[in-house]
Amino acid sequence: MPELPEVETTRRGIEPHVSGQIVVAVHVRQPKLRWRVPPDLSRKLKDARIDCVERRGKYLLLRTSSGTVIVHFGMSGSLRMVSNEVAPQIHDHLDVCLRNGLQLRLRDPRRFGAVLWTDADPLLHPLLAGLGPEPLSEAFDGNWLQQSARRRRAAVKTLIMNSRVVAGVGNIYASEALFLAGINPARSSRRISSRRFGALAEAVKQVLGEALEQGGTTLRDFVNGAGEPGYFAQSLRVYGRRGEPCINCGALVKARVLGQRASYFCPRCQR
Ligand SMILES: [Zn+2]
Repeated sequence: MPELPEVETTRRGIEPHVSGQIVVAVHVRQPKLRWRVPPDLSRKLKDARIDCVERRGKYLLLRTSSGTVIVHFGMSGSLRMVSNEVAPQIHDHLDVCLRNGLQLRLRDPRRFGAVLWTDADPLLHPLLAGLGPEPLSEAFDGNWLQQSARRRRAAVKTLIMNSRVVAGVGNIYASEALFLAGINPARSSRRISSRRFGALAEAVKQVLGEALEQGGTTLRDFVNGAGEPGYFAQSLRVYGRRGEPCINCGALVKARVLGQRASYFCPRCQR
């Protein structure tokens, strides 16, 4: 599932090719995504100039001269640039064709992604308005986590995966950050000291930052690249390693389900 680093890597990969470009056509081959692609998207976007590509949490925002396209990748979505002669494949549902001869192409085999339109401020859109601070921003720190924990009974992993607390920290990076910070994912958010919340906020920033660095090496694949652009092999410390030795202490990594998501942790290093 695309997480924040994949979305940000995609943003960095496509922005140089789409910013300042005029949309000459939009082809929607499959409108039935998580929500139906707006039927008037093509009319709204035609002849619009794309001003910039922004990210908020796991949403990409294509800001244009006539409004904003909001894109979410769901379970399996990806965007890449292709030249006009590249034929669409079975799961390529939508193209935004640009004057420079490139197309921004959405692929989404499972169709849980979304392509929406707003004429208004996209940050006030119902999907985005309630999002917490960006994890890589200064607004997200140990104090913010502690403040957020006061009003909630959740396990700490559930807390940091709550998009109202912090935007876009998914299951993989939540597990990785808790491992780095030495905090058991099931620990009650109310029973964590301010010092440990500070360490956790730093760990979230570190694991996301490392993933972004790895993603940077895939940027050259964004034009006519084969495979799945924006998805990259992460070197993970604990996630997906159930039954393998902990990289710190050698104890066997455990897994348990928390908030319906698999959580991986070291029973010795994480308290
Ligand atoms: Zn360990």
